[in-house]
Amino acid sequence: MDKPIVAVLGLGIMGRAMARRLLDAGYPVRVWNRSPDKTRALVEAGAKGADDPAEAAVEADVVLTMLSDGDAVQTVMSEARGALKEMKGGAIWAQMSTVGDEWADRFGEMVKGMAPKVRYVDAPVLGTKQPAEQGKLTIVASGPDDARAVMDPIFDVLGQRTLWVGEAGMGNRVKIVVNSWLVGLVGALAETLRVSRAVGVDPEVFLDAIHGGPIDAPFAQLKGKLMLSEDFEAAFPLKHALKDARLALDAASRGGVHAAVAEAVATLFQKAQDAGHGDEDLSAVYTVAAQ
Ligand code: NAP
Repeated sequence: MDKPIVAVLGLGIMGRAMARRLLDAGYPVRVWNRSPDKTRALVEAGAKGADDPAEAAVEADVVLTMLSDGDAVQTVMSEARGALKEMKGGAIWAQMSTVGDEWADRFGEMVKGMAPKVRYVDAPVLGTKQPAEQGKLTIVASGPDDARAVMDPIFDVLGQRTLWVGEAGMGNRVKIVVNSWLVGLVGALAETLRVSRAVGVDPEVFLDAIHGGPIDAPFAQLKGKLMLSEDFEAAFPLKHALKDARLALDAASRGGVHAAVAEAVATLFQKAQDAGHGDEDLSAVYTVAAQ
């Protein structure tokens, strides 16, 4: 059977790597990006470029969105020359951006009652630039069972593990919880490295002390070294970490929980963004920690 045609809308750090993997795995790929220069390398590698989201989506069996946030996804899917109304009956919209629970549910409402019918899969990812390039993401998928036969082989190209966690919208809920953990970890790490220096301990000694033990985390080792070398080339842009911290805070608050640690970390990320580090890696939070 022919492989499904996949349209990838959004060729930032993640979307670009994901489109490339699909191409390399033999999928027919359509690509569109707001800034058109980012399509060039993929078109040279065999993807078909589109001038707008509608053109990318018209023949696609799967439309995959990997954009900054809910606003961007809404624009690309539903404004003039948006993808949604051009999608063919039975096609799948795989929404893989981190948008939070409210947007995820809103997108579910958008496709309800559409004719022809479009299936909506909410499937954000865990992992960053390098795992995306290597097909080692974890995909937290949610949506109709009848989409799995098409999506599972695609997810297997993009990731090393797919968790199906329930009806559409649950994927972004799980992602909020994971990101609450992640931003807390990064905020605590940045501060700990500063505290370490303040008490006269080489921060490398701290990283070595936890290495391999039960309180170690591979992410702490990776980001800790980048913080200490002040290498902030973006793998996960700080502005997106701030967005995710706020999504977690808002969702927690709607659930009746005051997430004080997440709030403190969001304030720290905001400070780093205000200081001009938004487009750098989230590890740039180190620059403003403990000040
Ligand atoms: P990125 O490099 O900043 O790329 C963002 C993409 O969104 C670009 O293609 C950008 O287009 C597009 N975009 C932004 N606003 C738009 C608008 N109003 N209309 C149309 N297109 C718009 O981001 P990324 O790192 O690939 O992340 C993408 C998503 O995955 C985010 O939701 C992020 O939270 C999530 N995520 C990221 C990571 C990571 O480590 N990077 C990991 C897990 C999940 P232009 O090129 O024209 O700016």
